[in-house]
Amino acid sequence: MKIAIAGAGAMGSRFGVMLSRAGNQVILIDQWAAHVQAINEKGLTVDTETGSSQVKLPAYLPADVQEKPELVILFTKSMGLANMLAAIEPILGETTKIVCLLNGLGHVPTLEKYVRKENIFMGVTLWTAGLVGPGHVKLVGNGRVEVQNIDPAGETAAKEICDLFSQAGLNAVYSENVIFSIWRKACVNGTLNTLCTLLDCNIGEFGQLPQAASLLRQIIAEFALVAKATDQVTLTIEPVAQQIEALYDPKQAGLHYPSMYQDLILHHRLTEIDYLNGYVAKKAAELNLATPICQLLTELIHAKEALLVK
Ligand code: NAD
Repeated sequence: MKIAIAGAGAMGSRFGVMLSRAGNQVILIDQWAAHVQAINEKGLTVDTETGSSQVKLPAYLPADVQEKPELVILFTKSMGLANMLAAIEPILGETTKIVCLLNGLGHVPTLEKYVRKENIFMGVTLWTAGLVGPGHVKLVGNGRVEVQNIDPAGETAAKEICDLFSQAGLNAVYSENVIFSIWRKACVNGTLNTLCTLLDCNIGEFGQLPQAASLLRQIIAEFALVAKATDQVTLTIEPVAQQIEALYDPKQAGLHYPSMYQDLILHHRLTEIDYLNGYVAKKAAELNLATPICQLLTELIHAKEALLVK
C-alpha cells in the first residue's frame, strides 16, 4: 500500500520503518528541513536493541510531495496537526484514509476541517520511540495500537488498517471505543507528564511522594467530569488511578522521564499541555464546569515554557 507518514519524528519514523519493512511503499513527510535532508542524504539512522542501521526511505517537505497516498498516518505533535493537515491537503484524495495516533484530546474537529468523516480513523498507541537528532531515531521495546473509525460506515476499513499494521508487527487491534481509550491515555499524560515536568522527577520518584495518590485522583476527577460532558465517556477514577500507579514500578515506567519532561526540560521545546490539562480546562470553561487544578497546571507549564523555550 502507498503510505505517507505525516510528521516523521520519533513515532512517525517507527511506523514508517516497520510498515516499509513489511513491503509497503512508505514516504516520510516532515516540516523539519534538516531532518528531511539528513534522511535523503544518509538514510534514516535507526538504533535498536541489536545495533544501528541505515534505512532508505524517501523524505519530503510537505510542499514537495506529488503523489496521492492511499493512507496517511499522522504523527505530528498536537500543536503541529492543523499546520500539517493544511500543508498536505493537496495530496489528500477522495478516498485517502487518515489515521491519527497523536496523544492528546480534541483532534477530531481539527481533522474534520480537512478530511471527510468516513476517511478519519482515530487510534492510541503504546509503542514508544525517541528522536536522537536530525535523521536519527532510537526504536526500542514493544507496543501495540488500537484503531477505530469515527464514522459507523468505516468499520471494515478500520479493521483492514489494523490488519495492515499487524502484518508489520505493530500489534494492532480494532477498538470498540477508541474515544474512551484516548481519554484514558490522556489521563496518564495529564498526570504523569505534567507533574513530573513541574516537579523535575521521573515517574518512580513521583510515585514515592506522599502527595502522589491525592494529586493523581484530583486531576483524573477533572478529566472524568469533562469526558462525560463532552464525549459521554465514563472514566471511573479508581481503576484509572491504579492503572497509572502500576507504572511507578521501575520494571514498568518508574525510571522513565515522560516525553513532556524530555521536550521541555531537556530540549526546551513547547509541550502538548493545551491538548491535555489545557483542553480539559478550556472545555470546562465553555461548559461552566470547574476544573481549577487543570487550569493551574496548564498555566504553570506555560510559565515554564516561557522561561525555557527561546
Ligand atoms: P517528535 O518530537 O519526535 O516529532 C514530532 C514532530 O516534531 C516531527 O515533525 C519532528 O520532525 C518535529 N521535530 C522534532 N524535533 C525537532 C526539532 N529539534 N526541530 C524541528 N522539528 C522537530 O514527536 P513524537 O515523539 O514522534 O510524537 C508524535 C506524537 O505521538 C505526539 O502526539 C506524542 O505525544 C505521541 N506519542 C509519542 C510517543 C513516544 O514515545 N515518542 C509514544 C506515544 C505517543
